[in-house]
Amino acid sequence: MRALPVTLLTACGLLATACGTAGASGSASPAAGGHAAGVPAGQVATQAAPSAAPGAGRGAGGASRDQATGTARAESLAGKVVVIDPGHNGGNYRDPKAVNRKVNVLTQWKACDTTGTSTNDGYTEAAFSWDVSNRLAKILKSRGATVKLTRSDNNSVGPCITQRAAIGNRAKADAAISIHGDGSAPGNHGFHVIMPKKINGPVDPVVGDSRRLGLAVRDAYHKGTGVPYSTYIGSKALDFRSDLGGLNLSTVPKVFIECGNMRNAAEAAKFRDPAFRQRVALALANGMQHYLQP
Ligand SMILES: [Zn+2]
Repeated sequence: MRALPVTLLTACGLLATACGTAGASGSASPAAGGHAAGVPAGQVATQAAPSAAPGAGRGAGGASRDQATGTARAESLAGKVVVIDPGHNGGNYRDPKAVNRKVNVLTQWKACDTTGTSTNDGYTEAAFSWDVSNRLAKILKSRGATVKLTRSDNNSVGPCITQRAAIGNRAKADAAISIHGDGSAPGNHGFHVIMPKKINGPVDPVVGDSRRLGLAVRDAYHKGTGVPYSTYIGSKALDFRSDLGGLNLSTVPKVFIECGNMRNAAEAAKFRDPAFRQRVALALANGMQHYLQP
């Protein structure tokens, strides 16, 4: 993983465009450089559900459990559409003009996207969210869901937060989740889930369902990863915001999760561990499944 200048990597926490930490100080400008604008919608990855889940048919009654995915019932999410939004993009630092372009998120205008944060030793939030999102997609597909990601790689720019919401809307997702790691002060730790508020806007009809989704994800993440509730945001790892474009513009049930604080040394070590990222993905899959199949 290439090391990026620190000023590039603190934008998640500083700008709070897509992240939970607001109010910190410092430069949030992506580095100089640049090329053409964000990812066309056509590049969005569409990953249809497999016709049969791995492990299906093994053992009596298909009751075997896949170690990696925790899948006990084949195709139990058949017919469900899940949109996963891996926060930020690994190439965002290359195009500050496109990334900093102001977009309307109904309650305010804010940057199209940010570079996101990183651990102190350079493991980026974009890489983390990309890895976890793909692990999560694999698990959900193994359970029969149709899964779409809002970006197709971790080397390009964007899409804007408005597009990230629109992708979930167009897919008519039964549930959508945006995956992040926070960039707060080093002494802060723990995870939190962010849910939308009513804003007299398109998200209003799904605020209630988003809250149910958020509670399911909160409980599953806490149980499955052992990461404690945030010590610095929200109440019992639950936060409600009206400044996030990815939530304000969503017409489908949607939440954000800040999986921990990447600037906290203990949590940074976990983020770097592939086995931990698999636990994160499995926990998120279980939370989403609990919401989709109460
Ligand atoms: Zn973020």
